[in-house]
Amino acid sequence: MNRKVTVVGGAGNVGATVARAIADKELADVVIIDIAEQKAKGIALDMYEACPIEGSDARIIGAGADEAGWKETADSDVVVVTSGVPRKPGMSRDDLLNVNYKIMQSVTEQIVKYSPKTIIVPVANPLDAMCQAVYRLSRFPRERVIGMAGILDSSRMRTFIAMEAGVSVENVHAFVLGGHGDTMVPLARYSTVAGIPVTELIAKDRLDAIIQRTRDGGAEIVKYLKTGSAYYAPAASAVEMAESILRDRKKVLPCAAYLEGEYGVNGLYVGVPVKLGQKGIEQVIEINLTLEERAALQKSAASVKELVDVIGV
Ligand code: NAD
Repeated sequence: MNRKVTVVGGAGNVGATVARAIADKELADVVIIDIAEQKAKGIALDMYEACPIEGSDARIIGAGADEAGWKETADSDVVVVTSGVPRKPGMSRDDLLNVNYKIMQSVTEQIVKYSPKTIIVPVANPLDAMCQAVYRLSRFPRERVIGMAGILDSSRMRTFIAMEAGVSVENVHAFVLGGHGDTMVPLARYSTVAGIPVTELIAKDRLDAIIQRTRDGGAEIVKYLKTGSAYYAPAASAVEMAESILRDRKKVLPCAAYLEGEYGVNGLYVGVPVKLGQKGIEQVIEINLTLEERAALQKSAASVKELVDVIGV
């Protein structure tokens, strides 16, 4: 194929699920890079061997995170960065800060070296701080470093609304803004079922419970899995971003973007609606917020700032 997606940390749960979906949808050839080199090679070959059945001509290769491996990634159109430690029960995403920052340092250098024109989609947590690290280290324009979190948080909220209203998930739209953590800002006012505001369909106490469950959505899965965190919905979210970029679909999606004054936030990654196309972020979309919503977004931005200050990016 004439497009290439690299998945760094692709032998892990989120990365492998991303790689498989990209191949299944025939979006691009896939390079899986992982320090677990043998596992990367094994799962890549296994996925390749599924392609004749799926009818996909995507080529998938696996490689180690050494120079020879990184060479294979040259001129990638999109690089999804899932390399990073996931949280375990009792841990917050912020507990992963220092260890995952070190991983961002080593992988960003190689991404820039081999794919200077690529678009990077960081997924590792704590998401907004890792985006800021990759943005600063890569020196790419903000259009080309876009974090995955809002699609996942919104998808969780959409699922809970669909469960509550007993309707198709396809009918439900929801927006979750802010940082990908406990201070995220689920916006009931901008959430709809077939265009009808959810505030007209679902009682306030039930809606409040849905909002809280959305905030705790990641922890709910961690509690069940015990040894790691969610990966099916996170991977689907990253793939939606890659698809919108590779096919220039210009979808409006909530993503972590580096703000330069939008929403009153300056010089920080926060989740906001953006238009995603072949150039990456083609527009940061500003929606009107109530004073209360704006304050919640500011609070969320402040908690991202605390983390980026710790690692000094
Ligand atoms: P995982 O442990 O299954 O996979 C991580 C992979 O990264 C492993 O295969 C590991 O070998 C690899 N790796 C580590 N250091 C590397 C390096 N320097 N170079 C290449 N590969 C390296 O974890 P997972 O469940 O796939 O989660 C991955 C990350 O994504 C975690 O940080 C997790 O918190 C995060 N995550 C974020 C979201 C989100 O909404 N943004 C959602 C889910 C998971």
